[in-house]
Amino acid sequence: MTATRHAPLSVCPACSGPLVREVRTSRFEYRGESLDYEQPGDWCTECGEAVLSGEDMSATETLLVDFMSRVDQAQASELSRIRRKLKLTQRQAAALTGGGHNAFSRYERGEAKPLPAVIHLFRLLDRHPELLDELKTRRG
Ligand SMILES: [Zn+2]
Repeated sequence: MTATRHAPLSVCPACSGPLVREVRTSRFEYRGESLDYEQPGDWCTECGEAVLSGEDMSATETLLVDFMSRVDQAQASELSRIRRKLKLTQRQAAALTGGGHNAFSRYERGEAKPLPAVIHLFRLLDRHPELLDELKTRRG
């Protein structure tokens, strides 16, 4: 029995352009943050599409997983810092952003990921803390 597994593609699956084996700097984006990293693969010289083998993907997997974990931790501590600066309890913060009264303690412990809207609101309040009064009075 002969088996041909992982027969290398000779042309790009997207545009049929020629593929070249090389390492290229790629950009990975996660929750508004980006990371440039070196990705080995078969790259299309016409459209820039990459064909990645399992080996190519596992070469960079740890790097990307670590990056996502760092972003999650940084956003959790950023939310915590801003909340304390605004002198809000976790429950008050959760009342402003929704998601249930335990939402903020879960965000800050890394047990849940806040929606981008929550991060954006808190970044705005970090720069313009006076807007918090307006939110409080509107909630009456
Ligand atoms: Zn192509």
